[in-house]
Amino acid sequence: MTNEKVKVKCLGMNEEGKGIIKFKGKEIYVPYLMEQENALVEVIQKRNFINAKVINIEEPSKNRVKPKCPYFYKCGGCHLQHMSYKAQLEFKQNSVSKLLGRYHKVNDILGMKEPYFYRNKIHSTVAYDGKGKIISGIYEENTHNVINIDKCIIQDSQGDKIIASILELMKDFKMKPYEEDTGRGFLRHILIKRGFSTNEIMVVLIVSSQVFPSKNNFKNALLQKHPEITTIVMNINNRKTSVVLGNTEKVLYGKGYIEDTLCGCTFQISPKSFYQINPIQTEVLYNKAIDMAKLTGKEVVLDAYCGIGTISLIASKKAKNVIGVELNKDAVKDAIKNSKRNNITNTYFYNDDAGDYMVGLSKTKEKIHTVFMDPPRSGSDEKFLSSLIRLAPKQVIYISCNPITQERDLRYLTRHGYVLKEIQPVDMFPQTWHVETVVRLKRKHH
Ligand code: SAH
Repeated sequence: MTNEKVKVKCLGMNEEGKGIIKFKGKEIYVPYLMEQENALVEVIQKRNFINAKVINIEEPSKNRVKPKCPYFYKCGGCHLQHMSYKAQLEFKQNSVSKLLGRYHKVNDILGMKEPYFYRNKIHSTVAYDGKGKIISGIYEENTHNVINIDKCIIQDSQGDKIIASILELMKDFKMKPYEEDTGRGFLRHILIKRGFSTNEIMVVLIVSSQVFPSKNNFKNALLQKHPEITTIVMNINNRKTSVVLGNTEKVLYGKGYIEDTLCGCTFQISPKSFYQINPIQTEVLYNKAIDMAKLTGKEVVLDAYCGIGTISLIASKKAKNVIGVELNKDAVKDAIKNSKRNNITNTYFYNDDAGDYMVGLSKTKEKIHTVFMDPPRSGSDEKFLSSLIRLAPKQVIYISCNPITQERDLRYLTRHGYVLKEIQPVDMFPQTWHVETVVRLKRKHH
């Protein structure tokens, strides 16, 4: 291993928001370094990797700001707090333009007015610190050390207060945090979800055993401190695993789930169900996707990778029928339940691999007018895309949280009869390097 300190100028930024420098002819990516900055960095070379960190910024960018969070450089959950929000948006705009700009002009990114406290879900791991004090926070990157985080500027602040109270109550009740190494102790994690539009709050206590000493007293003490909590669930996870939630659940208070509304539809959220974590920007994203589709009420729509049916339900009001397909069985159950909850009768959900389902569909006479697709970070696959081509819908609205795999899929679709008509980036995850995009493709001819 060799370490070397060098003065460098940052040449640009990679898609993860790291500064690009050249060192002995090689490109290296430096966390927390911004474009155009001059800095002293330390380059660390091991046999098969090379890595660098900032020692001192000698000429800071005019867009550099002091991170608002004291844990920023340690936590790893955020990546861009050292950049002004305007510079973060410019960075994301450029990232998308670099990848997708050759297909179509890219609209200005839709950012947040208040790019803080936007997460509706908080997950915190409970542990002892080195001195035997109970703390809660997140694992330091690539380690099993929990870093104490009592305030987080991107998550719901009400949740932070509830967590602080739970840690206080643990002392009163002599409740011990779970210890990974020995398997001893009781409370492993705390999960809090809040419906921003309904203000319903769910607290999930993930514990190591069925036996919850003084369960009712603990529950009542928590409710007394936080009457705003609408439901408390105990989740039992007694396995030695890094998976957070176990399979057994007991509702200690309330109905065991919360509800939230998005674009006029109500969704049930249970401890395990997937739900977008930034509801404000999710509405912005979905409204844009629905606008782009210009549905008139006559169309048959397919929502592929539909999750709990959010896009399906919202689109159903402007379509003849919506078919949703999703791999996760529980999510499909939620989607069906959510349709009923909203008195929607023109949606049909299938539990299947989206590619397999499309292959089947492309062999029938079903005419699909519009396909919405919102695949996971890995993007779609050839099976799905080739069936999509055969199905030949008039338009495809492709939502993605990873412009790299989206670009790969768009290359395929544009080689097989589709053209891009609009590209819209949306900032769903301020302070991090992630960016969401929604694009509209139209079939050529016809
Ligand atoms: N559109 C939804 C969910 C998008 S997340 C929303 O906005 O809430 C992507 C979804 O794709 C996840 O629910 C995941 O379970 C699902 N998924 C992943 N691979 C899949 C596949 N091969 N076929 C169908 N669905 C898949």
